[in-house]
Amino acid sequence: MSDIKYVKLEREGKAVWGVLKEETVFTLEGGPYDGLHYDKKSLPLVNCRLLAPCDATKLVCIGKNYYDHIQEMRSVLDASGNPEKPTIFLKGPNTLNCHLGTIHAPDFVQRLDYEGELAIVIKKRAKDVKAVDAMDYILGVTCLNDVTARDVQKSDGQWARGKSMDGFAPMGPILTDEVDPSNANLRTRLNGEVVQQGNTRQFITSVGEMMEFITAAMTLEPGDVIATGTPAGVGSMQVGDTIEIEIDGVGTLKNMVV
Ligand code: MG
Repeated sequence: MSDIKYVKLEREGKAVWGVLKEETVFTLEGGPYDGLHYDKKSLPLVNCRLLAPCDATKLVCIGKNYYDHIQEMRSVLDASGNPEKPTIFLKGPNTLNCHLGTIHAPDFVQRLDYEGELAIVIKKRAKDVKAVDAMDYILGVTCLNDVTARDVQKSDGQWARGKSMDGFAPMGPILTDEVDPSNANLRTRLNGEVVQQGNTRQFITSVGEMMEFITAAMTLEPGDVIATGTPAGVGSMQVGDTIEIEIDGVGTLKNMVV
């Protein structure tokens, strides 16, 4: 942990990474994965159009990682009461969406849900990582909304279509290594009202265990994302709604449904 706040932003039509100090962004040459190489430019945060702070080739998501969420999903997905190993699924990079971006579902979707989650962004290539070494592979954490077409998820059996529609993974606003992913307060607000509240201490599968479980099966690349699951309180969104995911120390990811 080195106490850095990263942002990814659009500048002159190109995606660039930067480091946030106070309210100023100092931009980098290339990504933040192999040390920080500043390009000697800066701009005020308020002038930045922020992008999802990752370079994901894939988003690996943990399903059912808080006991209270398993209880509420039991009727919907017939989830096992006490899973012996995590359920993982993928969202494609087409799902990436940014802070203040709009969420839109195709007309055939009947039920569009939010799932407030803490996301981890990977720092270096990870394969067969041991739980105890997991933190060496984590660049930082941010907020993620695991947007889900719940009716499609349920009717398809496979989760790919219901979870991986375009723009179904808003992330941001910043990525920071100042927050401990194993002890972070998270809340979700729908039109200003708190609908989810949790702390990542409630994880069934710890951050270390999930890194070990995932990388035993697949290689994670720098910039890939792990979405760590959602606490109880998931619910549906309607066109016109504002949905916010807040993590203490990260800030608030805000999106509108259109
Ligand atoms: Mg989820």
